[in-house]
Amino acid sequence: MTHLKLMGHGYPPLLSHQIHGVWGSHGVWGSHPSPCLSFTFLRNRICGGNCSSPLAFQLLLHPWHHASLHVHSGGGGGFCLQKLHSLRFSRGRGRCLGGGRIVCKSAQLPSASSATAVMREDRIDKLVDRVETTSVVQDWEEEKEMRMVMKELVDLIVPEALAWASLNGLVVGDKSIKGSGTNVGLGMVHAPLSLFPTSFPQNAFMQAVQLATDFNILIDRVSQDTQFLQEALASTQKVDSFTARLLDIHSQMLEEGLKQEIQLGLHRSDYMLDMATGSLLQVEINTISSSFAGLGSLISKLHRYLIEWYGDAFGLKVENLPENNAMDAFAEALALAWKEFGDTSAVVLMVVHKEEGNMYDQYWLASRLWELYPQKVIRRTLAEVAAEAKLRDRQLFIGEQAVSVVYYRSGYAPADYPSEAEWMARLLLERSSAVKCPSISYHLAGAKKIQQELAKPGVLERFMPDREVARKVRKSFAGLWSLEGEGSAQVIEEAISNPQAFVLKPQREGGGNNIYGADVSTTLRELQKDEEQQGLLAAYILMQRMFPTISSSYLLRNGIWSLEDTVSELGVFGTYLRNGHNVVLNKEAGHLLRTKVSNSDEGGVAAGFAVLDSPYLT
Ligand code: ADP
Ligand code: MG
Repeated sequence: MTHLKLMGHGYPPLLSHQIHGVWGSHGVWGSHPSPCLSFTFLRNRICGGNCSSPLAFQLLLHPWHHASLHVHSGGGGGFCLQKLHSLRFSRGRGRCLGGGRIVCKSAQLPSASSATAVMREDRIDKLVDRVETTSVVQDWEEEKEMRMVMKELVDLIVPEALAWASLNGLVVGDKSIKGSGTNVGLGMVHAPLSLFPTSFPQNAFMQAVQLATDFNILIDRVSQDTQFLQEALASTQKVDSFTARLLDIHSQMLEEGLKQEIQLGLHRSDYMLDMATGSLLQVEINTISSSFAGLGSLISKLHRYLIEWYGDAFGLKVENLPENNAMDAFAEALALAWKEFGDTSAVVLMVVHKEEGNMYDQYWLASRLWELYPQKVIRRTLAEVAAEAKLRDRQLFIGEQAVSVVYYRSGYAPADYPSEAEWMARLLLERSSAVKCPSISYHLAGAKKIQQELAKPGVLERFMPDREVARKVRKSFAGLWSLEGEGSAQVIEEAISNPQAFVLKPQREGGGNNIYGADVSTTLRELQKDEEQQGLLAAYILMQRMFPTISSSYLLRNGIWSLEDTVSELGVFGTYLRNGHNVVLNKEAGHLLRTKVSNSDEGGVAAGFAVLDSPYLT
C-alpha cells in the first residue's frame, strides 16, 4: 500500500484533529504529534466527491510553510516538494527531508490552475506510481529545528510590524485603557492584524472586484423602488421595532414628498470563498457605516513593507499584492458629494458613537479628505445632533456651521438610539437637503431581509434587466431563505435537523448577532412556538452556512503573536454618487481582508472576532 504524507513545518495545530480522525483509525501515525497531512485525508475529500478545494495544497501556499512531500511506498521513498513548488506554487518553499529523490517528471505534476483536477484519486494514484523510492528518513529533529527558526524569524519581524503600525496610525483604541474610546490620542494600540497577507485566489478576487459597481447600481435601484422596500420589509416591521422605526422615517419622507436628489453610497460587499463549492459567495453588503477603508488601506501598506523587507526569504513577491486605495476612494466620493451639493462653506458631518474604539479609521478618512481636497469634517453623536442641529429651509446647520454631507458611522443599531432624541435627530437629518450617506432608503436597501428577497427567483432580475449582469451577480448569492411564507416550513425543518448547514440572522448590523450551530435548532424551535402569537420568525432570515478555506496565519493582537488556523472574508468597497439622473461616480474602491480563527463563527474586527489582513493573490 502506498501512503503519501505531507509534512508542514511551523504548523503545529494544523488540522491535527482531522488528521488524527482519519489516521487514528488506520493506525498509521499513532500518536505522533507531528503536523502532518495525509494522503488519506486528501483522498477522503476526493472520495467524498468534494475535491474542489484540496486543503493540503492550499496549506502549501502559505509563505511560512516549509513543506516536504514524502511518498512511502513499501520500503519508503520520497520526492521533494520543491519541484512541485517550482511548478505550481508561487509561494512557500519546498524542502526535501531525508534525502528523498525527485523522480516525477514535470509533465506529471499539477499546474497552478488545475489543483482540483490533479487531486482526483486516479491521478494521485498515477502520481504515486511513478515515484521511484529511495529512502525515508523521518527527521523530526530537523523539523523541530525548523520550527525554532520560524519562531525566531517571527519574533524578529513582529517588532518591525508593530513599529510600522504605530508610526503610521494603523491603530485602534486600547480597550484596557479607560477613556481610550472617547479621548482622542489616549490609549492607542496597534490594530489586530495578520502579520502576513493571506493567500486568496486571483480569479475569485477579481470576481469580487468586478461585482462592486454592479452592487452599487443594484443598491441604488432597490432604494428607488419604495414599494418593494416597504413590502419586502413589511413582515419584519411587525416584529422588529428597530426596522419599523427606520421604515417610519422612510414613509414620512415619502409622505412629505422629500426626495433625495443626490445619493452617496460608500459600500462594502463582503464575501467568503466557500470551500465546499469553490464559489465566491456574498456574506452581506454594508450600506451604512462600512468601516475600515482607512485601516484597510494601511494594512495593505504594512504587508507591502514587510514583503519588501522579508519577502525574498519566504518566496513572497510584492507583485502579488493588489493595489488598495480604499481610503482615497472614500475621500474622493465624499469630496465629490460635497461638490455636487455646491456650498463651499459647508462641511461634512460625521455622525459617530460617543465611544468608539475604531475612531482612528474614521479620523484617517477625515484627514485624507482634508489633505486631498481639502474638505472639513466635524464629528457629532446623534445626541449632539439632536441638541445642536437645525434646518433653515431644509439646509442643515450644526450651530451656525452649514453641512453638505452627513456621513454615518453610527445609527445602524438599536443601541445607537437610546432615547427619542436620537430618533428625532435621524429624522431631522433625513429631512435636510444635505447629502446623506446613506439616505434612509440606501440604509434599508442594505438590510439582510432585502438581500434574502433579492435572492428569490426573478427578483434580482427585475432590478438588473441585463441578463449577463444579473447572472454574474446571482452567482455570488448564497442560499437565502425567508422564515415565513411559501416553502418556509420545509427549510425550517431542514435547518432544525441540520443546523450546521445554516446561519440564522436577525435583521441587525454590527456583528455578534447571528446564530450558529445547535443554537439554530433551539432558536428555530422556540420561534416556532411563538409563531402562532407573534410571527417572530419574520425577524430572521436563514442563510446557507459557508465554510471558507482554512489557512494558517500569524495573528497579532496587543503585541502578542500566535499561529492559528484561520478563515478569511474579503470585503470590496464601492463608491457611488448620483445627482438626479446623472451618475457622477460608480467605482470599485479598494478592499479589506478580515481573518479570524477558523473555529470562530462571527467575523467583525471592531466586534473583536477578526483581524485586519490583506490578500496575497495566487
Ligand atoms: P453583521 O451585519 O453583523 O456584520 P454579517 O452577515 O456580516 O452581519 O455576519 C457577521 C459575521 O458572521 C460575518 O462577518 C461572517 O464572519 C459570519 N457569517 C455571516 N454569514 C455567514 C454565513 N452564511 N456563513 C458563514 N459565516 C457567516
Ligand atoms: Mg458584516
